Amino acid sequence: MGTVVNCPFCNSQRITLVEFIPVSSFKQLLKDKNIQSLNETINGITEIKYNSCDECGLRFFFPLITGDSSYYESISSDANYYAWSLSRADFKEASKHIAGNMAVLDIGCGCGEFQKFQNATNYTGIEFNNQAVKQAQERGYNVFNEDIAEHAKGNSEKYDVIVCFQVIEHLSSPKSFLIETIKCLKDDGLLIISTPNNNSYLTYLVNASSNLPPHHVLHWDEMSLRNITRALPLEVVSVAKEILTDENKDDYTRSLLTAFFQTIFKLRPRLVDFSVSFKIFNKLAKMLVPAFNKVVAGKDLLPAGHTITMVYRKKSQPVR
Ligand SMILES: [Zn+2]
Repeated sequence: MGTVVNCPFCNSQRITLVEFIPVSSFKQLLKDKNIQSLNETINGITEIKYNSCDECGLRFFFPLITGDSSYYESISSDANYYAWSLSRADFKEASKHIAGNMAVLDIGCGCGEFQKFQNATNYTGIEFNNQAVKQAQERGYNVFNEDIAEHAKGNSEKYDVIVCFQVIEHLSSPKSFLIETIKCLKDDGLLIISTPNNNSYLTYLVNASSNLPPHHVLHWDEMSLRNITRALPLEVVSVAKEILTDENKDDYTRSLLTAFFQTIFKLRPRLVDFSVSFKIFNKLAKMLVPAFNKVVAGKDLLPAGHTITMVYRKKSQPVR
């Protein structure tokens, strides 16, 4: 008998197995990152499954191996981690909804990068990476180390807008996180969430450790993000999808070509693949990227880009 797998958001047991990832491949991915503490966690595990919830559409890994604060301190010591060079379509989208007199909470704020993009002076950030908190405080930002459950205790219905950028893909208990978040929001207040859009070029990426556990354990798309409102007192105000940026275009073209070669040989494209055939196809695809990029120059041929930004409004009724 296999372990019963429940959806980490809606708790449904109507789950479809999308891909079985051998632990050996997973260890190979981790080794590249050289993260010792996680190797210990992985050692106790025999299988990792990539699943899709038939009820809400969320895709998730099981078991849900998430990084602890030491993991994030280790990967964020790379100076680019919070200053990632994507266009920050999510920051720009969120700032449209924020006026100067609003009280804003930024959950998982990192070094407080979003401060520069918005007008509100009443800004609070919470973050569990101590290094990032220190950096934000040195910049004079109102940022401290607290999780949302602690914060909700003293700050019920305090904020006009809560932003949460690139956080929910990291969580093992997204529903309780959102319940605590909504508690901090005034009635009719806005909750703005951004996350990697799984219905995008990301679907084609192989061995992309930044989009796999322990970094990303949940893969969201518009459907699963809309379905949040079935379980929580929220309504969707707007959905914004980033278009594929030039810096991600090469990755997309290479992955698409690799998948094309695999299909010809009746091999199924996978999230994690260390087979010899994949290596050969991927190398070949890499050589063809410059020529092929000219063909897919037309914007309408491109899939969605990295990020989806959802704006929800809190409905005035108690959290179920
Ligand atoms: Zn579900």
